[in-house]
Amino acid sequence: MGAGASGMAFVDTLVANTDAEVVLVDRRHRPGGHWLDAYPFVRLHQPSAYYGVESRSLGRDRIDHEGPNAGFYERASAPEICAYYADVLAEQLLTTGRVRFFGMTDHRGGSRDGHLLVSLLDGSETLVRPRRKVIDATYVQSEIPSRRVPDFAVEPGATLVSPNGLVDLGEPAKRFTVIGAGKTAIDTCVWLLDAGIDPDRIRWVRGRDPWQFDRTFTQPLDLVGGYLQLQARWVEAAATATDGHDFGHRLEDAEMFVRIDPVTEPLAFRGATISRAEINALRTIENVVRARRVSRIRRTSLTTEAGEVPNQPGEVFVDCTAPGVRATVPRPVFAPGTITIQYVTPGLIPWSAATIAFVESTKLPDEERNRLCPPVVFTGDAADLPQLAYAAMQGLAARARHEQVGPWNLATRLNPAKAALDHLDDPGVADSLTFIVEHTRDALANLERTRTTRPTAS
Ligand SMILES: Cc1cc2nc3c(=O)[nH]c(=O)nc-3n(C[C@H](O)[C@H](O)[C@H](O)COP(=O)(O)OP(=O)(O)OC[C@H]3O[C@@H](n4cnc5c(N)ncnc54)[C@H](O)[C@@H]3O)c2cc1C
Repeated sequence: MGAGASGMAFVDTLVANTDAEVVLVDRRHRPGGHWLDAYPFVRLHQPSAYYGVESRSLGRDRIDHEGPNAGFYERASAPEICAYYADVLAEQLLTTGRVRFFGMTDHRGGSRDGHLLVSLLDGSETLVRPRRKVIDATYVQSEIPSRRVPDFAVEPGATLVSPNGLVDLGEPAKRFTVIGAGKTAIDTCVWLLDAGIDPDRIRWVRGRDPWQFDRTFTQPLDLVGGYLQLQARWVEAAATATDGHDFGHRLEDAEMFVRIDPVTEPLAFRGATISRAEINALRTIENVVRARRVSRIRRTSLTTEAGEVPNQPGEVFVDCTAPGVRATVPRPVFAPGTITIQYVTPGLIPWSAATIAFVESTKLPDEERNRLCPPVVFTGDAADLPQLAYAAMQGLAARARHEQVGPWNLATRLNPAKAALDHLDDPGVADSLTFIVEHTRDALANLERTRTTRPTAS
């Protein structure tokens, strides 16, 4: 169930390592998930080099020379990602003869009798009895503005668009009010600034600032030294932090985490990545409304929990309030007859889903499989960083030590650190690896103690 990034990465690794037959179902007409409806200026937040499925490269591993991504590995646009998943389905999966794809088909639940699939074209129903397992690749699915009704009222006369609507405005805006503090809002503000909009004509309703990774340290291949430095500093912070906020500040001191406003405490964390150039651009927007919840948009004012804020005539409101990555309640990945795909790596769903598929291909009992794949939950709250780090590091350490999973993990293109062993002559790589090996035990012990500590307000 689900042919987004999760379902596609899972099926690709599963059919490569087992003789399983797969029925792949999605209510959208083709694979790709939320990317099919994404705003037109979206790009991957990470390099294409480690996104997608194991068996096929995405992009050409070029380093960009211009724009906000200059100096970093290329990041695919939504059309590139959608075309990629269409090719993966046609050329990697259907050609095995063991995968069938049912698009425009809704999964309406399962019982002992089977799973009900309903065609969204003609309403016909099919009952499917899975021979081996049901894979839920919808549990961590993305929520995006263009597919969601905002949870605030909009009165007649006020213009509200999703970021998708910005490229199709009926009339030019006098001012833009961007609502939301997450990555979609950040992308929207960067895009408006890049399109030449004066920062004074942008107002930003941003309740909680997020910690974000500096893109310099998320690079693979020849730039993998930075990624290894991030891992080492992460382990160092995990070994010493007293709570989630302290964890964030330690990574900021190590120059791995960045924030938009240097004087506002970041209370959110969803694992997003940004460049220093983008941060500098965002800092030019000075009209920031510190409110977490907009409840009503009138032509003349915005109602928020912090009070009523006046609007200007000709204002266009941009809804960026969908959470993107949803906070989920963790559940065992492997249960009798079912697999629920969740994050088991820190923030990378393709690597997570492929890992789960490879672990499924082993003959291990479910208890051992679950030990190798503890779910990593993004609650969106920076206070939960120790909890997230604990699950992520436990899983990474267990898989690295496993005789079957460890070598697979080192070799997969979805692992950002894949090139590390080819760069051991780089002292940055060798020193970071040594640090990680020597301090992971201390880090896990400290996280075990602090993961439930709630930071005091500062
Ligand atoms: C703007 C944006 C940028 C991002 N960038 C990155 C990035 O750079 N790197 C990264 O690792 N992550 C990124 N993410 C996180 C993102 O969540 C994942 O990359 C990924 O695309 C999510 O894939 P998914 O398959 O889990 O969910 P989705 O893409 O939401 O796919 C789920 C699929 O399940 C189908 N479905 C749901 N319910 C049913 C049902 N009952 N019956 C049939 N079908 C059903 C849906 O139609 C959908 O196609 C980004 C997220 C957003 C929103």
